[in-house]
Order: sequence, then C-alpha cells, then structure tokens
Amino acid sequence: MTRRNRSFGPMTTAIHAGEGPDPATGASAPPIHMSSTYVSESVAGFSAHDLAEDTGWLYSRWGNPTVAMLESKIAALQGTEACLCTASGMAAATAIFLTFLSAGDHCVVSDVSYAGVAELARDTLPRLGIEVTTVNMADLDAVAAAMRPETRLVHTETPVNPIGRLTDLAAVARIAHDAGALLSCDATFASPLGMDTAALGVDLTMHSITKYIGGHGDAVGGAVAGSAELIGRMRLEAAIHHGGILSPFNAWLVARGTATLPLRMKAHEAGARMVAEWLEARPRVTRVIWPGLASHPQHDLAVRQMRNMSGMIAFQVGDAATGEAIAQDMIDRLEVIHYAVSLGHHRSLIFWMGTEGLMDSSFRLTGDQLAAWRDWAGDGIFRLSVGLEDPEDLIADLDRVL
Ligand SMILES: *Cc1c(COP(=O)(O)O)cnc(C)c1O
Repeated sequence: MTRRNRSFGPMTTAIHAGEGPDPATGASAPPIHMSSTYVSESVAGFSAHDLAEDTGWLYSRWGNPTVAMLESKIAALQGTEACLCTASGMAAATAIFLTFLSAGDHCVVSDVSYAGVAELARDTLPRLGIEVTTVNMADLDAVAAAMRPETRLVHTETPVNPIGRLTDLAAVARIAHDAGALLSCDATFASPLGMDTAALGVDLTMHSITKYIGGHGDAVGGAVAGSAELIGRMRLEAAIHHGGILSPFNAWLVARGTATLPLRMKAHEAGARMVAEWLEARPRVTRVIWPGLASHPQHDLAVRQMRNMSGMIAFQVGDAATGEAIAQDMIDRLEVIHYAVSLGHHRSLIFWMGTEGLMDSSFRLTGDQLAAWRDWAGDGIFRLSVGLEDPEDLIADLDRVL
C-alpha cells in the first residue's frame, strides 16, 4: 500500500499492508527471512552510496524482506511514504538526532520526554557539538523564542511520557518550518492510531515499537515514519552505517502484533476511560491525567488532535512518602497488574516515578520548567498502562491498594 492510501480502513491496513501470499509457496502468513546475506544476480557495487530504489536484497543491514514488510505496514498506518525500523525505540531517537544534526547545529527538545531521550539530548548531543535547548512544548511562545538561525530540528513527544502533557503538533510544526527546521515527534504513547501526525505537519514520527505496535511485551524495537527522502537518508546513516537495525525475528513478532493494533487501541482506550473515571472518584487519588478526561488541562487539544486517547494514565496520590508506600503495597498485593516499567502491552503495567529521582537522573528541570512539571506531577506519579484485561478486574486490583 502506498502513501495515504485511504481506500482501506485502518483495520484492513493493519492486517494486509506490506504483506501478501508468499510467491514461492502460497503461504498466507508471511515467512521470516533470517538470511543475513543474499545471492547476487549481477556484479554490483559494495557501498551504501550505491543503494538505489531498485537495488535488490544485498545484506540484511541494508534491508531485509521481513523487516521491510513491517516498515510498509507502519508507514501505511502512519500515513507516510516510508518507514525505517530500528533495534529499539532509543535507536530510533538516536537515528533521528545523528542523521539530521551535526556539530554547530542547534536542536530544540521537549523539556519532559522519555527519560532515555532526555539523557541523550542533555548529555550526548552537547558532547558532539550539538547545542540543545529544552522547552515546555505546551508553551508555544517558549518554543518560538527557542528557535535560532542554526536550529535544524525540533523534537517533541505527545502525549509525553510519563506525565501525559500534550504538544499542539500543527502549531509547533508551523514554528519549526518557519525557522527552516524539521519537526520530529515521539508518538509512542499515542501509537499510529492516535494521531495523523503527517497531516499535522510532523516530518518524522517515531515509535518505540516495543510498546503499543508490538503490543505483547515480547520484542524490543523502534520505528521512524516519514517521507521517502528523509527515511532514505536515515537508512543510509542510521541503519547501514550506525548499524542499529531490527532483527527479522522481532520484525515478524511485531508485525503479528500490528495486525490487531486498531482493535487493541479501541480496547485500551475504553479500558483506560473506565479506570481513569474510577481513579478520579477515589479519595486517596489527588490528580488523574488522561487526555480523554474533561479534567485534562488540554482536553480540547486532545479532542482536536487525537483519534484515540490511548491507555496511558498518570495519577498522583499526594507526597513522595505516600507514593512510595503505595508502590511497595502494589508490589506486594497486586494480583493482575504487573509492577514493571514499559507500557502498551496486553498486560497492564504500573510504575511509580518520584519527582526528586527523575530530576536528578533525567530531567534536571529548574525554575519555571520545574514548576510546570510539579503542576502536573507533584512529588511523583504513578504511570499506569491499561492493558487488555477486563477493566473491572483492574479496578478491583487497584481497589486493594488505593
Ligand atoms: C520506551 C520508550 C522509548 C524507548 O524505546 P525502547 O524501545 O525501550 O528503546 C522512547 N520513547 C518513549 C515515549 C517510550 O515510551
């Protein structure tokens, strides 16, 4: 399926895009091509710079049929021309930064983002001579004020892990593009079903496919979706030269998960709505953040921008000591929900994140940015990834500890 092929709905696309009966055997399910190399039919060059549209399979770091099948599926679901899959979500973020930024360039990054991305942006990029400004992406004036003539990339994340704050993608895309910069967005929390990022102006949409896209907690991987031109540059740099490629086995597992992504996202959203409403009515819970709740400070933006509210809930229970005590109680007493990091799986997962620890290790926010964080997360939050179990069972589980 090609770009913006809207002749099929998302459920059909998720199942059929990128695949078809195996020409060799007629197998209805796609095979796994584990071969690292491919027999050449002609004498060809051996440099990534020789990579052309019609280059056949040469070596699996350049491309692999099973990985390409998943890349086509994700591109079709995200409404982009192309996609590059990577060894992890972090490899996808690294691929974006190291393909499109060079020493002397400037990059604007969300002041809150996935902790690994926050650390990469704060520690690694400056070491390579790339200047980074972190801004609260919900503050459009701050984003505009951060732009410089040498700004090449704006990187945001929405809804942002772990606090569920949103970025107005269309507005930030205008600011980035007016300044001649690309906009990349980590849409892991939303999944490709959550937002039509390409239509909103995002140039590069990245996902940790470890999360919703794979959906079953059994494979680590990443993806970046965008135009054929930008993804082609990333394939050359990040895949062929930096080498962080996805294994065909993981691609096959994730593709199997992708087939049910639209159905799963509907169930995640419906389950999260029930759990979020229950949490909101719970006296011990001081704050619940889920884009589908009318109480979310950016609920209007959520309704405008999101096609699915996803299953990620953040909630507060008061001060850090209370949060830590409840977290320990969860470890001891939850029967269904796993106390574990990660998200987007069929199994529900919960994890407590204290503000102090996160500030020391990942975000190091001060002043207005720290105040804005505290406004959302207080002394710390529980990040709950609502899985696909019966919501009544999840509520009964939470009822034991809240
Ligand atoms: C998990 C996650 C990542 C990193 O992905 P890995 O597959 O664990 O490397 C990046 N961004 C977000 C929003 C995530 O939740």
